[in-house]
Amino acid sequence: MKIKGAYLIVCSPDRNFVTLKIETDEGIYGLGDATLNGRELAVASYLTEHVIPCLIGRDPFQVEDIWQYLYRGAYWRRGPVTMSAIAAVDVALWDIKAKAFNTPLYNLLGGKSREGVLVYAHANGTDIAEAVDSVQKHVDLGYLAVRAQSGVPGVASSYGVPKGGKPYEPAERGLPSESLWSSERYLNFVPKLFQAVRSACGEDLHLLHDVHHRLTPIEAARLGKELEPFHLFWMEDPTPAENSDAFRVIREHTTTPIATGEVFNSFWDAHDLIRNQWIDYLRMTIVHGGGITALKKAADFAAIYQVRTGFHGATDLSPVTMAAALHFGLAIHNFGIQEHMPHTALTDEVFPHQYTFNAGYLHPGEGPGLGVDIDEKLAAKYPYQRAYLPVARKIDGTLTEW
Ligand SMILES: [Mg+2]
Repeated sequence: MKIKGAYLIVCSPDRNFVTLKIETDEGIYGLGDATLNGRELAVASYLTEHVIPCLIGRDPFQVEDIWQYLYRGAYWRRGPVTMSAIAAVDVALWDIKAKAFNTPLYNLLGGKSREGVLVYAHANGTDIAEAVDSVQKHVDLGYLAVRAQSGVPGVASSYGVPKGGKPYEPAERGLPSESLWSSERYLNFVPKLFQAVRSACGEDLHLLHDVHHRLTPIEAARLGKELEPFHLFWMEDPTPAENSDAFRVIREHTTTPIATGEVFNSFWDAHDLIRNQWIDYLRMTIVHGGGITALKKAADFAAIYQVRTGFHGATDLSPVTMAAALHFGLAIHNFGIQEHMPHTALTDEVFPHQYTFNAGYLHPGEGPGLGVDIDEKLAAKYPYQRAYLPVARKIDGTLTEW
């Protein structure tokens, strides 16, 4: 089998997605997600101009060799654009191989280690009462794990809280919006939120919270300590992770489990955090971390240190990445949890998929390959529209982490 051609499908069914389709001379094709939220066309161009010409004529079964060729062969390593492009190729090749063997992808990754992939949903509200209500609604839908976010009194717009009653969607068309932030008000508020959620929803529910990189290490340490009575499943991205040592500070002060890595694009971003056991869950994604080939190595390394996976799963990862993450999560031993932020009905229509939700778990389905496709005719009706994630400033105007 040889790679005959490849091309990009850039579309915007409610939000932007970049999808790579690789075709073979035997009629089998594979899909890979190349979406990098807010920088989508950079990855599309990287693939079209620099990667696709190198793929033609290659054996699509040589997944490892092609990964090494694109990573080492470019000379310029890492970075979100490069690694998202490599991921798209890698996932499409795994899809082709599994289809060629007429088996679901998880069987090529070691076979299933569990019956379903535990997922967590996003609950949010403008205040504590609304947030508690939202958590309860997700419990009623069958979720066993829920991330709770709430508007903070005195902070005009908080991360994770939707505007105008719509489902939460951070990417906005047009130029980036700006919001104001106060760590002091947030820190005083969050323990009250979790006290209310825990007492309303009981002890069995897994509760998660995303700090979204907004605190300093010692502020995050304080938050983790104050949240201990509510035994969270994790505290996510407590502080920016470029400096791994920041997590040592947090770790020395609290037993609240820590998850990070959704912005990582290389195993090396996570290496020190894992080997020092400063985190409990690795949030790297298949699409931004270099694909299944790269994440399998990262997950196996993490397993040695009892660090489990908890992959990012926001709507800026297409159903192609969600399917890949579900096959991956079903197969590896040290799977922890998978984020599940459902796509809109229109996105689901453009990307018909086999994965299903049942009683708190997602399952990738038993069809060959990833079990996800793209309706190119429908996708063509929704062309790319420039969109960005928001930007945050402190109350005095200083730019800070969104
Ligand atoms: Mg997050």
